[in-house]
Amino acid sequence: MGIALVTGGSRGIGRATALQLAGEGYTVAVNYHHNIQAATGVVEAITEQGGRAFAVRADISDESQVMAMFDAIDRTGEPLTALVNNAGILFQQCTIEDLDASRINRVLATNVTGYFLCCREAVKRMSHRHGGQGGAIVNVSSAASRLGAPGEYVDYAASKGAVDTLTTGLALEVAAQGIRVNGVRPGLIYTEMHASGGEPGRVDRVKSALPMQRGGQPEEVAQAIVWLLSEKASYVTGSFLELAGGK
Ligand code: NAP
Repeated sequence: MGIALVTGGSRGIGRATALQLAGEGYTVAVNYHHNIQAATGVVEAITEQGGRAFAVRADISDESQVMAMFDAIDRTGEPLTALVNNAGILFQQCTIEDLDASRINRVLATNVTGYFLCCREAVKRMSHRHGGQGGAIVNVSSAASRLGAPGEYVDYAASKGAVDTLTTGLALEVAAQGIRVNGVRPGLIYTEMHASGGEPGRVDRVKSALPMQRGGQPEEVAQAIVWLLSEKASYVTGSFLELAGGK
């Protein structure tokens, strides 16, 4: 099956995805930025369930660190066949009056530039044009790209709009090279990300406004990602799955 790289695989949606991909038979490269303990915990959980995984540190917004991460994957000798661009950040909820260039650029550097860099390196390895055996990419976007996150983090929402356009454009660019590129747009999912916005309990505060009246679990998003990467989705590219409880 080859290697599946999951950026931000150490917790939340990335962690759930890494565990499920290992169960499907991939060797999982668990990328993380700061928390080596969490990443090692995912590798151990995968190993305990009989799978194969290794942790790889890289700040995806830093081109040299991204290159080093892909070099480390190459050194395993196993081909990269799947990429889940999942690592993402947001900051304290605010309105536009409190947004400054430094924050906006940090959000875009990770959520957009980081996704581009990882896509570029994955395409170089997967593409038939470069002698690769093909592969699949899933970009984790957000329902915020449709809804805009007003009064919370429009900068984050806009970064996810860019991710969606990347997914559409890249899917068309590499469709004839054996690579499928799709996106998922989660809604309110129970992870630690909401604490970064200053409201750890955000999902429970707003869930009653959702058609399904509940938040989602990381595993529910992971299932969609795993399906999009699988042969069961062999004729699907440039598509988006909404995982937002109907919103
Ligand atoms: P999370 O729990 O906050 O986890 C974020 C992960 O990304 C961590 O593993 C973190 O690693 C890693 N990370 C952050 N910055 C990084 C960087 N520069 N380089 C490499 N890794 C980095 O997030 P989550 O809620 O699971 O979200 C995962 C994805 O789903 C994100 O793209 C997010 O925008 C999207 N999403 C989430 C929700 C939701 O409700 N949770 C909704 C819609 C979309 P360290 O801990 O080591 O720093």
